[in-house]
Amino acid sequence: TAVHNNDASSGAQSRRLDIVSLYPKDMNIYGDYGNVLTVSRRAALYGYEPVVHQYNQGDQWPEHVDIVLGGGGQDNGQKKIVDDLFERADTLRDLARQGVPMLMICGMYQLFGQYFETIDGTRLEGIGIMGVHTVGQDVRMIGNLTETSEEFDKIIGYENHSGQTFLHEGTEPLGRVEFDGTGNNGEDHTEGARVHNVIGTYMHGSLLPKNPKIADFLIRTAAERRYGVFEPIQNDQMRNELARIDRIADRA
Ligand code: GLN
Repeated sequence: TAVHNNDASSGAQSRRLDIVSLYPKDMNIYGDYGNVLTVSRRAALYGYEPVVHQYNQGDQWPEHVDIVLGGGGQDNGQKKIVDDLFERADTLRDLARQGVPMLMICGMYQLFGQYFETIDGTRLEGIGIMGVHTVGQDVRMIGNLTETSEEFDKIIGYENHSGQTFLHEGTEPLGRVEFDGTGNNGEDHTEGARVHNVIGTYMHGSLLPKNPKIADFLIRTAAERRYGVFEPIQNDQMRNELARIDRIADRA
């Protein structure tokens, strides 16, 4: 099989996938770090070699990036990291444009938008990868959240946010809230956003253990970008383990 390796330094036989966990110290609420664990575990079970780079404020940016994962956080966590996020904004915008898969939950989703005006009136500028903006309100939106999306079918999790997010014209939602939850704003039934291969969403849970299709989308897209093809290399034990964790995630 032809292996297109864009990263000469890693050698033609490399199966490495470089995963950046964005601000795990300050933006990692309601178990969102579980998304990093899930992507790593599943990538390993597909025969890839996941390497997780925990990127906090002031850290060195990794040389190679295949997947970027960001979690939720409180307003003051968002205030803490936003200056550093702007230092990395050009890099992140370039990566997004190039099709690098990213998953941004809640607080990081808001900061990937145009701006977030918090309930105390502070306006946090976002890095504008997604055409959305968010305004804090005094009633928090808390509870189970279920949505449907053509690409990922049913997506489940829960939400806990004060910000109401509004999609700008031309920005696609990730899904539509059908029964449970408020989603972006409680008014238009949209939830999350999708731009290039960047997914923004209010889904905590963690999201990925219960929604393996999204985890696999991130891994497949990353492998295709780096190696030209998504090609699992698995023995029976790996296949069985993947089937076992998929049964746990099954919500039917
Ligand atoms: N602080 C933001 C809000 O309340 C994000 C919350 C979160 O990430 N759960 O809207």
